[in-house]
Amino acid sequence: MFEPESTKTSPGEKRYIYSFAGGCADGDASMKNLLGGKGANLAEMAIIGLPVPPGFTISTAVCTWFYDHQKTFPENLFERDIPKALGNIEGVLGKRFGDPENPLLLSVRSGARTSMPGMMDTILNLGLNTDTVEGLARKSGNPRFAWDCYRRFVQMYGDVVLDLKPSDKKQIDPFEAILEAKKHELGIKLDTGFSVEDLKDLVSRYKVAILEKTGRTFPEDPCEQLLGAIGAVFNSWNNERAIVYRRLNHIPDYWGTACNIQAMVFGNMGSDSGTGVAFTRDAANGDNIFYGEFLMNAQGEDVVAGIRTPLKIEQLKQDNPKIYAQLDDIRSILEKHYRDMMDIEFTIESNRLFMLQCRVGKRTGMAAIKIAVDMVKEGLIDENEAIMRIEPEQLNQLLRPVFDLKEKQVAIGEGRLLATGLNAGPGAATGRICFNAADAADVFKQGEAVILVRIETSPEDIRGMAVSEGVLTERGGMTSHAALVARQMGKVCVVGCGALSIDYQKGELRVEGNDLVLRDGDYLSIDGTTGEVIAGKVPTRNPEIIEVLIDKTLKPEDAPIWALYNQLMEWADRCRKLSIRTNADQPDQAENAISFGAEGIGLCRTEHMFFGGDKIDAMREMILADDIEGRKAALDKLLPVQREDFYGLFKAMGSRPVTIRLLDPPLHEFLPHTVSEIEALAGKIGKSVEAVTARIDDLHECNPMLGLRGCRLGILHPEIPAMQVRAIIEAACRMKHEGHEVVPEIMVPLVSTVKELEVTSEIIHKTARDVIAAQGIDIRYLVGTMIEVPRAALTSAAIARAADFFSYGTNDLTQMGLGMSRDDSGQFLPAYQQQEIFDCSPFESIDIDGVGRMLDISVQEGRSVKPDLKLGICGEQGGDPATIEFCHKTGLNYVSCSPFRVPIARLAAARAALQC
Ligand code: PEP
Ligand code: MG
Repeated sequence: MFEPESTKTSPGEKRYIYSFAGGCADGDASMKNLLGGKGANLAEMAIIGLPVPPGFTISTAVCTWFYDHQKTFPENLFERDIPKALGNIEGVLGKRFGDPENPLLLSVRSGARTSMPGMMDTILNLGLNTDTVEGLARKSGNPRFAWDCYRRFVQMYGDVVLDLKPSDKKQIDPFEAILEAKKHELGIKLDTGFSVEDLKDLVSRYKVAILEKTGRTFPEDPCEQLLGAIGAVFNSWNNERAIVYRRLNHIPDYWGTACNIQAMVFGNMGSDSGTGVAFTRDAANGDNIFYGEFLMNAQGEDVVAGIRTPLKIEQLKQDNPKIYAQLDDIRSILEKHYRDMMDIEFTIESNRLFMLQCRVGKRTGMAAIKIAVDMVKEGLIDENEAIMRIEPEQLNQLLRPVFDLKEKQVAIGEGRLLATGLNAGPGAATGRICFNAADAADVFKQGEAVILVRIETSPEDIRGMAVSEGVLTERGGMTSHAALVARQMGKVCVVGCGALSIDYQKGELRVEGNDLVLRDGDYLSIDGTTGEVIAGKVPTRNPEIIEVLIDKTLKPEDAPIWALYNQLMEWADRCRKLSIRTNADQPDQAENAISFGAEGIGLCRTEHMFFGGDKIDAMREMILADDIEGRKAALDKLLPVQREDFYGLFKAMGSRPVTIRLLDPPLHEFLPHTVSEIEALAGKIGKSVEAVTARIDDLHECNPMLGLRGCRLGILHPEIPAMQVRAIIEAACRMKHEGHEVVPEIMVPLVSTVKELEVTSEIIHKTARDVIAAQGIDIRYLVGTMIEVPRAALTSAAIARAADFFSYGTNDLTQMGLGMSRDDSGQFLPAYQQQEIFDCSPFESIDIDGVGRMLDISVQEGRSVKPDLKLGICGEQGGDPATIEFCHKTGLNYVSCSPFRVPIARLAAARAALQC
């Protein structure tokens, strides 16, 4: 019998080998770092009594040793430890490695801590040579099978260990060439047409090829074969594919791979043998059904290669009820043991079932939620574990329109993928190209879907964005105007797609390195989750949760997916400590956010309230006024508009808190740019084109992001905040009159010194007092400030004395903290990420070490003065799970994000509370 003791090293000596066989093992599932995922789970399956072919795992520590010592192995490994471990296998099976009568054959496989599918190497049927192949033929009674194994082994060994596999797809594998030539000679199409003699001939031709190409003979000695194969597995940790995969998946180089050596079992031994893969539940939709495929008389690679079409696992129930029942038992044993959905590989050898692998199964967002909620009901996991099983970003798959995956693959296969930009607003959109808002409105009126394509967006584009399915821009970063507004509207959005070249005059879109010219009205598809831009139409579908919550076209009782989502959200809300607010400046955005569970508005950007309709003209008239009279006249026009807007927002939010920020318009985003825009505006505000042009020149700023914006505007022109505060308090009075108490939170932007806040606060209080006195209604309100300038963050104790609350504007804090323009970062951030200067954009996920540090200092300073100071975040990072975890740890009261990210934020806040 197998004895784990036998592979133990002497006391004090490092252990490199871990054996496993029926009923016991040296390792277990908790040892993934040392044994790799595959090795750890093989050990675990052996412990719980599943039929695992006996074997052993050479630990990842050997891989590290190998690279640290000029690709050599630790002392005693080959001389003592491996022979001992091999002896275990031989003892269990009654076969011997290299024995010409009854040979033990081995599989040698890689296996890192996390799965790196197909990236590293595997060698099967190891131990075969001219003698043992005859032994296998006699033992199995099937010479054809034995020689087929040998043929496959020589090919695999040649490719993987002797490095004959071509490095690029254009070259031909020498063994494939020989195989094809042989088929051609025989006039056959399939490998099954080879006789024993043909296979023998192939083996000798392969060996000749090896000698010719490497100058070495094929190794007949099984021990030499094993040494070569183990080296090849460790070498494959650093092949190009594996390195690229590690970079993409943030897997550190130092982990190394383990090497699993196991007795071969054969699914290709005849019609009572086979192989298959399965999931213990449906990995696509999470249904609690056994989901898998198998092939009889085949090896694992045949299932993967897709040469023959595998059968559904239900078929096995009919073909071999005994084996099916055993597998089904294993399915429930594994689920109960791991308390998760598992992905398994199995082989049937002469009617005997063997488990070759199990691991936690990858799943879609939909399946993740269904499985987690079902497993709570089944008593396998508790609610907290269910929350921890779902990555917040996975919710996007249930909240956003998606492409039909097959259709998208077809489109990409047809070479229609044009370029990739920044994935600024997730989801999938397809429609006709429109290059301006007016065309978009027309096309929309005709009942057609629109993709608005702009070099960059400005307020003019808002009505075009509103009617579009998606927005695509050539320039801009993740917090550019287009990105911010699109996310808030719930639009699919790709920005900063530098490969595009847009010609408004010609109505044309060209793409770098592509001859295709797309014109006005042509179909275009964009994937805001991946940033892909695809020519032509790709069908999309709206998810059920949106039909219930936003479109209101489906009743909750008819929506099982919504029910799962709702259950998960209830659990999440029970454990989170952070409140979730939204960034919204229109009543419909506020309503969407409430449907998603928002508890208040964390940021209403009042300058955005002028987007759409003719409101922008009065706003521009105000900006362009030459003197205070002109400005007051424009403000008089704006007052009723603002009052109505605030009233609409308060009504939508009910008794929930609403933070309204005083005007903060970076001028370049609001002034007209083109001659026709200037002409149109001049006509509307009754000025000459020359006068308007001259005033625009006067107002020109070299760096508008750091110019006359934020509180500076109100300090220079107090009549502007006065008008806004009047509108806010009057709207609150109207609400109170109607029986609803609202406590507006008035927020001052871009403060860097406490003095700025004090001066602005005086204007606010004076106006509020006047309105309250005039209306005879008492309104409570708060005055707080954005903390978005580094100086403000670092002097927060002083600022807190003058503030009822702080809201962290991490867009500007990042821009100023890193000295990195939010509008221009799209040009260099992708390269920065590629070169690993940043893991991800600091405009998407807070830069914890820098911006986060400023935030920490500010929180401490602020609360040292006012322990109950209300703190929130309203920069775009507020919807990012890692940032939310940081905000939880830092002790903020709430995060505020765009409406469609509210569910993601709820889940992320719950996970943060459970983790910290
Ligand atoms: C910020 O700077 O983070 C912020 C929310 O303000 P805005 O994006 O409007 O500049
Ligand atoms: Mg800001």
